[in-house]
Amino acid sequence: MDTIIRNAKVVNEGQILDLEVLISGERIEKIARSITLDPAKKYIEIDATGLHLLPGVIDDQVHFRDPGLNHKGDIFSESVAAVAGGITSFMDMPNTIPNTLTQVLLEEKYKIASEKSIANYSFFMGISKNNLEEALKTDTENVCGITDDGLYFNNDEGILANYPDFLEQLFSRSNTLIALHSEDDTIIKNNTLRFKQQFGNEIPFFYHSQIRDEQACFKATQRVLSIAKKHQTRLHFFHISTLAEAELFDNSTPIREKRITAEACVHHLWFSDSDYDTLGATIKWNPSIKTEQDRKGLMQSLLNNKIDIIATDHAPHTKEEKKGNYFEALSGGPLVQHALLAILELFHRGEIPLVKVVEKMSHNVAEIYRLKERGYIREGYYADLVLVDLNKHEVVSPDSILYKCQWSPFMGQIFKSSVSSTFVNGNLVYEKGLVNTNIKGKRLRFEKIR
Ligand SMILES: [Zn+2]
Repeated sequence: MDTIIRNAKVVNEGQILDLEVLISGERIEKIARSITLDPAKKYIEIDATGLHLLPGVIDDQVHFRDPGLNHKGDIFSESVAAVAGGITSFMDMPNTIPNTLTQVLLEEKYKIASEKSIANYSFFMGISKNNLEEALKTDTENVCGITDDGLYFNNDEGILANYPDFLEQLFSRSNTLIALHSEDDTIIKNNTLRFKQQFGNEIPFFYHSQIRDEQACFKATQRVLSIAKKHQTRLHFFHISTLAEAELFDNSTPIREKRITAEACVHHLWFSDSDYDTLGATIKWNPSIKTEQDRKGLMQSLLNNKIDIIATDHAPHTKEEKKGNYFEALSGGPLVQHALLAILELFHRGEIPLVKVVEKMSHNVAEIYRLKERGYIREGYYADLVLVDLNKHEVVSPDSILYKCQWSPFMGQIFKSSVSSTFVNGNLVYEKGLVNTNIKGKRLRFEKIR
């Protein structure tokens, strides 16, 4: 049955308008001030009075932990949390077990997702120093890109940003989108030694921001950027965490013409180093949470378009894995369920306009990945939509958390907004706390040339 959404304020492509949206099958059939329905047909009518209709959020950086790390999360549990948070499509990282370093292992992940994912999905091909030829075989129309993100946890070679010779080879030969984690291993190692001499194993978590510090991020990003510019590589920087790095990016080129793009993550836009004293390991991420000046600078860089998109880097660990001293507690945390609500909270605080939220979380993600027929509320596009209530608050509490790991860095937070319902490919998959798990998401498709 077709669905008509009435009385919503539609936030799309720089405007907020009173429009009706007709969904037929998987797609948006019609968008107009007033839509006349066929009296011979039956429709599901949704009265969205008081609600805003947004294109579904597209999150280009998640770690759903499937396969091999399913005690932390899996594609089913985390995609359920994602749609409850208004995320309709995700792109997942290769540091699953086994690491996604062959095309066969990559396709196995797509198969798992086709059976388990409630949201639409794509999986990055992993790149390490030992699988260049294999990684270059990646099918650009059916895979979002190649990345090293997270793989450094499982090998001794460290982050690829530290190997300029290898990056020269990769960048000169690749014709797909490459996304990298950019931090300098030597700087981090030296800082670690310094603080270890001072504190032993009991380094206060505050110093995470000075171990994985501004210079570690800046130097690596600067180095990678210069190689990418030389080769005109289609390069995307994940999770930029400092104002100094953000200043390195261009904001004079339209989004579709940019060869180099950058992202900020929800946690770097929300927390600052003053939160370590109360939250400790809970906010231990790599790259680290930096100063309030960096947080504000990232926000400013989103508004002035030096930074193009917002992602989550959703990376669940069990409560047990987040315990212990500085060296024992793992880095990363779950975010997909509350990412949109957190950014909408920043809207309420006057830090970002609503149209910009949609631009950075949906439109621009679709643009930089050349995603087909998603990311906008347009006739003919897939009906990936989210209805939000900006005036109905939501409390982050243990019984509302859908992540398998059962905790959130936002625990106890009262968000002013809530997600009312989420559509994936025209199907109402989430409504007021209930998830329909019968209908699965689809594999994302991309334009060939990026
Ligand atoms: Zn990363």
